[in-house]
Amino acid sequence: MGRLRRSRAHHARRDVQRGARTRVRTRDLDMIQLIDLDPKNRAALEAQPIDYEKPGLAQHYCVECAKYYETDAALQSHWRSKVHKRRCKQLREPAYTIEEAERAAGLGRETRQPPPPHQSSTTEMMSVLEGV
Ligand SMILES: [Zn+2]
Repeated sequence: MGRLRRSRAHHARRDVQRGARTRVRTRDLDMIQLIDLDPKNRAALEAQPIDYEKPGLAQHYCVECAKYYETDAALQSHWRSKVHKRRCKQLREPAYTIEEAERAAGLGRETRQPPPPHQSSTTEMMSVLEGV
């Protein structure tokens, strides 16, 4: 019998169940893209005050992944990692906004053409009026 499983099936997704847990939930991609990647907010996130509750006293933070690291070396190696590069790629796509959702539902502020006037009914009305 040959191999039952394909090789190279993991793609650095180590633990899918862990990623679905509420306690490891991080900021959503649109929050990062629209709020955190703004240069002003980014500078504030990268220079956080010392917080004893956070890993590494909140001194080594990856803005793209919304994740704290213990040491600067860990953060540097994270920046070279596949997980971080994939995240950056996802962030380069435009975020799904409320405007787009409303456009999909037909509620947006699109410039809509007015409906064409009903020619037949108006001509009928005109003929009726002229007949009188
Ligand atoms: Zn990262």
